[in-house]
Amino acid sequence: MEFRKKLIAGNWKMNGVGDALEEVAKLSAAHPDPTCEILICPPATLLALMSALPVGRTIATGGQDCHREQAGAHTGDISAEMLADAGARFVILGHSERRANHGETDDDVHAKARTAIAAGLKVVICVGETLAEREAGNTLEIIAGQLAGSVPDLVTGANLVVAYEPVWAIGTGKVASLEQIGEVHNFIRLNLEKHLGAGVGRSTRILYGGSVKAGNAADIFGVSNVDGALVGGASLKAADFSPIITALEAAN
Ligand code: PEP
Repeated sequence: MEFRKKLIAGNWKMNGVGDALEEVAKLSAAHPDPTCEILICPPATLLALMSALPVGRTIATGGQDCHREQAGAHTGDISAEMLADAGARFVILGHSERRANHGETDDDVHAKARTAIAAGLKVVICVGETLAEREAGNTLEIIAGQLAGSVPDLVTGANLVVAYEPVWAIGTGKVASLEQIGEVHNFIRLNLEKHLGAGVGRSTRILYGGSVKAGNAADIFGVSNVDGALVGGASLKAADFSPIITALEAAN
């Protein structure tokens, strides 16, 4: 099996002003030599400041979105090149909040991923079903459609990360069961192998996201094909995020 370095990603969403950088310093002090990759995606206003902190060896930074075009008349938007210039190494794309609140389609995510990869960024492409889609028994079909529509075929195992985030589990305190997580992660692995080739499919990291906390992280990280997590609320404070990182480091 290809080696996949575990990845723990924090999505700060629209939270945090300057003093939140102290949390990153605390996190770095708690994990001076991590065995997994640690990523924080702060609001764009903090990205350059966070990237310039002397913790870059242990904590990478990323954007939460980028525009599908390289540059132009797009007031209020941010380009992939700008993220990279501010020190980002990753960008989250197709988060369900972007899909729901900004009408982002798979085609948008696909175009953004191409632009981000051209700018040298690694992409964390989010997929996940709504509660209605799960209850209708359509989960795997929805995931397959999102992967087919959102993931460009130019990706490699080094620049693609897929995050499985059931929409009903994000910020709700509801966590998918270990069986549900295992089923979808195995499905994503096989789907990537089938459509992108065995090399890319086996080396792509697949993260789970949806109310991951210190109390449930170890169990989730024990599920096959879970290579880490995308964490929202519990990534804002070092005291909450650190035990999740420790659980990932301890996982086989
Ligand atoms: C997320 O925003 O991607 C997320 C998983 O949020 P939370 O951990 O708060 O559910």
